[in-house]
Amino acid sequence: RRVTAKQVQGAIDGKENPFTRLPHSDRYHKILEARKKLPVYTQMDDFYEMYAKHQIIVVVGETGSGKTTQIPQFVVYSDMPQTKGKIVACTQPRRLATMSAAKRVADEMDVRLGKQVGYSIRFEDMTDPGTTILKYMTDGLLLREAMNDPDFERYSTIILDEAHERTVATDSLMGLLKSLVKRRKDLKIIVMSATLDALKFQKYFTIDEPAPLFKVPGRTHPVGIFYTREPEPDYVEAAIRTVIMIHRTEDPGDILVFLTGQEEIEDACRKIKIEADDLVANDPDTVGPLSCIPLYSSLPPQQQQRIFDPAPPPRVSDGPPGRKVIVSTNIAETSLTVDGVVYVVDPGFSKQKLYNPRIRVESLLVSPISKSSAQQRAGRAGRTRPGKCFRLFTEKDFMKELEEHMHPEILRCNLSSTVLDLVKVGVKDLVRFDWVDAPAPETLMRALELLNFLAALDDDGNLTPLGTKMSAFPLDPQMSKMLITSPEFDCSQEILTIVAMLSVPNFWSRPNNRRKEADIAKELLSLPDGDHLTLINVFNEYQNNLNDSKWAWNNYISARALAEAANVRAQLLRIMERLEIDLVTKSHPDQTRHYVDIRKALVCGYFMQVAHREGDKGSYLTIKDNQVVSLHPSCGLDTQPEWVLFNEFVLTTRPYIRTVTEIRPEWLLELAANYYDLKLFTDGETKRALQRVLNRLRKKQGKKNAKAAASNKKQS
Ligand code: ADP
Ligand code: MG
Repeated sequence: RRVTAKQVQGAIDGKENPFTRLPHSDRYHKILEARKKLPVYTQMDDFYEMYAKHQIIVVVGETGSGKTTQIPQFVVYSDMPQTKGKIVACTQPRRLATMSAAKRVADEMDVRLGKQVGYSIRFEDMTDPGTTILKYMTDGLLLREAMNDPDFERYSTIILDEAHERTVATDSLMGLLKSLVKRRKDLKIIVMSATLDALKFQKYFTIDEPAPLFKVPGRTHPVGIFYTREPEPDYVEAAIRTVIMIHRTEDPGDILVFLTGQEEIEDACRKIKIEADDLVANDPDTVGPLSCIPLYSSLPPQQQQRIFDPAPPPRVSDGPPGRKVIVSTNIAETSLTVDGVVYVVDPGFSKQKLYNPRIRVESLLVSPISKSSAQQRAGRAGRTRPGKCFRLFTEKDFMKELEEHMHPEILRCNLSSTVLDLVKVGVKDLVRFDWVDAPAPETLMRALELLNFLAALDDDGNLTPLGTKMSAFPLDPQMSKMLITSPEFDCSQEILTIVAMLSVPNFWSRPNNRRKEADIAKELLSLPDGDHLTLINVFNEYQNNLNDSKWAWNNYISARALAEAANVRAQLLRIMERLEIDLVTKSHPDQTRHYVDIRKALVCGYFMQVAHREGDKGSYLTIKDNQVVSLHPSCGLDTQPEWVLFNEFVLTTRPYIRTVTEIRPEWLLELAANYYDLKLFTDGETKRALQRVLNRLRKKQGKKNAKAAASNKKQS
C-alpha cells in the first residue's frame, strides 16, 4: 500500500520531526510556508500514485519549481530509509549545486547537514554512514561507487537530477541503471530534467512501455526579449553597460548576468561596483544602492550563500530601493535558482568542453550557447513576475547561428577516465553498451588506446592488475599511473604533492593592479627545471609557513586553494596506504638527481603529452599529433628546452601548453618503449631527433656489452 499525501503532509505539519524525534524549530515552519507555495508541493499525491506503480519515472518541470529540493524528500517519506537500511541518492552534475541542494534540504528537514541529509563530492564526504538517509552527490561520484557496488545495493531509490545537462557521468549512469533495473526489481529510478525533451528519456527507459512522465506545472510569467541591433564586439563590456542601464532606468528587481568563468566574473563585478558607486554618488536621490555578487564553482561555500541574501535596503527610509546583481556562470541556468530575479543579461556564451580525438586534445572554449540554453536563461527573469531578458546579440544571430540544443558531453570530451570506470564496473563491450547517445567510435578508440599504453587494459581490453589499482583513484588515468609508479623512482611523496596541486583550481593570484608584484613573487617560488617541480616547492613552502598567516597573501597565492590541495593530498595518501603503495622520498645529497627521478615518474604517466622544440622561434610540435604549440605565458621555465612534458593543452587565441617540465628523450624511449616505437612515427624532425638518441643509446649499450664481454674473458 502506497503512502498518501495526506499522511505525509500530516507528518510534515506535525510537532515532532520524524527523523530526529525533536520538536520542529520555528525556522522549519517558516521555510515550510515557502515550500508549500512551490508548484510541486500541491502535486504530492499524484507523484505518490505514479511512484508506487512504476519502477522508473521521468520528471520535468521549470527551473525553480521544486524538483531538486522537494522530490527527494517525497521519496524519503515513502521509502522510509531510516527503517529499511537502504538510502536515497540524488545526483547533480555540479559540485556547487550538490552542496547547495543538500544544505537547503537539511534546513528544510530541520536536520544538521552531514547527518540525515548529506552530500558527497570528489574529495569531500559530508555524510554520516549509519545516519544519512538522503545523499546528494555528484554524478561522477555515484558512477565511481558502482565499481565497488555494481548493483547499488545501498540505495532504494536513485534520482538522476539535471539529466538534460547530459554529462558523461549521468549518461553512463543511465546506461548502467537501465540494465540494473532488470536485476533489482526493488530499485526505483527517477530521472529529472528542466527541459521538455523528456521524451528521449522516456523512450530510452522503456519497460514494456515508455517510462511515464511526471510533469510539474511551471508558473512562469511572460519575459520580454530584447536583442541588440548590431553584434557586440566586447560582450563583457556590453554586459556591464547593460547592468548599469537597467539600474538607472528600470523598475526594482534583481539582475542575473551570465558570463563564462571566474576571472571574467570577478572582473565584471569589480567594474560594475565602481560604476554603480559613481552613479549613486552623482545622483543619490534617484539611484539606489547596488550589490554585486559573483557565482562560480570554485567560490568558497560562505560566499556561495551570499546569492540568497536579499537586495540591499534603501539608504534612507524613503530613498530609491536597492538592487542585487548576480554575475554567474552557466550554473544559474538550471542548477541553482535565485528568487527575485526580474532582469537577465545574456551575452550568449558559455565555456564548453570540446574534444578532437584525431589530435587527442580536449579544451574548454568560450562558445556560443544553444537556443534552448538561451530560452532557459531568459526564463530565469519570469519566476516571480513579468521580466525582461537582454540578449547581447542580434535576433538574426539567434535565429541563424545558434544550434537548437547543446550536443551531449559524450560527443565533446575525452573518455579515458569514464572508460576505465566502466570497464572496472564490469561493462564488457563499450561499443555495444546501451548509450543514450553513443560516443564517436574514434573517441572510444582513443580512450582504449591510452589505457592500453598506460597498461591499464591489456590488448584484449581487459583490466590489468595495474588498471584495477588505477581505478581506485578519482583521477585521470595518467595521474593515477604516475602515483602508482612513483615508488620506483623514490618520489611518491613528491608525486603525491604534484597530483594534489594539479587537482585544485589555479592558486596563483594576479590582481589587476599588482600584476608586477605578483609576477615577481611567482618567479621567486619557481624552479627553472619545470612547473611540476615548482608545484612541489610552493606546497612545501606553504606547509613550512603554516603558522605565518600572511605567507600566502605576501606571496600572491590563494591560501584556500592550497588548503584544498593539502586536503586532496591527505585523501589520496589514504588511498595509497590502502593499496599498499610505498610512501617514499629520498633526500639525495644531490638535489638535481632527485629532480631527475621526479621527472622520470612524470614521464611514466604523461609520455603521450610531450612536445619537441622546432627551430629557435619558441614553437613546439606535439609528439605524434604534430600540433604547433607554444609555452603558455604562465610557464616558469627560464629556457626553451628541446623536449618538454606538459599537463595541459590550452586553446585561447592560439594553442599553448601549460604546466611544463623539461625532460630527456632517453627517458621516453626507456620508460614508454611501446609508445615510442619509432616504426609508428611519421617522418619528420621529431622522429629523426628520437632516432639519433636511439642510435646513441645503442652505441653506448654496444660499448658496454663489449666491455663486459672483455672483462668476462679476462676473468675466465
Ligand atoms: P528545481 O530543481 O525545480 O529547479 P529547486 O528545488 O532547486 O527547484 O528550488 C525550489 C525553490 O526552493 C527555489 O525556487 C527557491 O525558492 C528555493 N531554494 C532552493 N535552494 C535554496 C537556498 N539555498 N536558499 C533559499 N532558497 C532556496
Ligand atoms: Mg534543480
